[in-house]
Amino acid sequence: MSRLGQVLWPADYGLPDLSAPQFIGLTTTVPVEVIFAAGLVPVDLNNVFISSQRPQALVAAAELAGYPRNVCGWIRGLYATALACGIRRIVAVTQGDCSQTHAMMETWEEHGIEVIPFAFPYDRDPQLLRAQIERFAERLGTTLEAAEKVRESLIPLRHRIAYLDLLTWREHKVSGYENHLWQVRCSDFGGDPARFSAQLEDFLSGAEAREPNPPRLRLGFMGVPPILSDLYSFLDGLGARVVFNETQRQFTMVDSVHCDLVGQYLAYTYPYSVFFRLEDIRRNVTLRGLDGVIHYVQSFCFRQIQDSIIRRGLSVPVLTLEGDAPGPLDARTKLRIEAFTESLLLARTQGKNL
Ligand code: SF4
Repeated sequence: MSRLGQVLWPADYGLPDLSAPQFIGLTTTVPVEVIFAAGLVPVDLNNVFISSQRPQALVAAAELAGYPRNVCGWIRGLYATALACGIRRIVAVTQGDCSQTHAMMETWEEHGIEVIPFAFPYDRDPQLLRAQIERFAERLGTTLEAAEKVRESLIPLRHRIAYLDLLTWREHKVSGYENHLWQVRCSDFGGDPARFSAQLEDFLSGAEAREPNPPRLRLGFMGVPPILSDLYSFLDGLGARVVFNETQRQFTMVDSVHCDLVGQYLAYTYPYSVFFRLEDIRRNVTLRGLDGVIHYVQSFCFRQIQDSIIRRGLSVPVLTLEGDAPGPLDARTKLRIEAFTESLLLARTQGKNL
């Protein structure tokens, strides 16, 4: 047992104890229907990390264990979170998510964690994806057919999440942060779709009763979910609301509820090419009447390379923001956001795009 394995405990970080065998960790969205069909409980480690009481301390713990400073903050946080919460099994996406996952898997394996690889084929080949889902199901002791039944049972819940999204961008009753939170949680449905559904219905009945509160500016947020704690509230303070959360919305699979399991995960844009993602983003820029888009990138993330393609591929102004460690926005980033929103307001007053 390494130094890190000896010093990390869930209570020190406000983490749940996930050492029981039914828990299976996720590094990103995978066909969660397979996990439920196997009678297991999926836990998105990203959500566990960022909602812990001390995410900065988890990042620091990874550095203490030897993780380089120039590794993405999410990866450092995920590594330490998995060890601290004691999880014994993790599904790691080896293609279609993160270039740093392979090495992270190896450092988990060193601690005796069972790592199950899953790969989204870059070319969206249906046969290859089907083979991956079947292999995944077999590894967990279930079948594609059983997972299909779970997929069908989740359709009403996915429709309700789509309604929450509508309450955000069309009815102006749900904030950008609430939209982010509910959608991002669809990667694992909090481990229990029935409980998640009950909580969602509670939230929706409260939101429906609110007075509509239209924003001065309508923004899109694209890229990986932000590691920054106050981005949405800072934007709200400027009268700018995020009415489109790109990746978080993709986690909900609301565009493909009519598809079978393979079709559903082929329609999911995040693991595939940036051009496929752009098609979805452009559709939503028009549908939701966005004034501009924030492209969030993580320090040391390979996805930063795609920023130039994204900027050229969208017809609305794009502000690229970079985050590193968990915590609030720094002064420079706040200034850049203020300048961006002011320029969008000016353009709107003058009736033109920048
Ligand atoms: S932000 Fe980039 S580097 Fe970090 S985990 Fe996500 S894909 Fe990987």
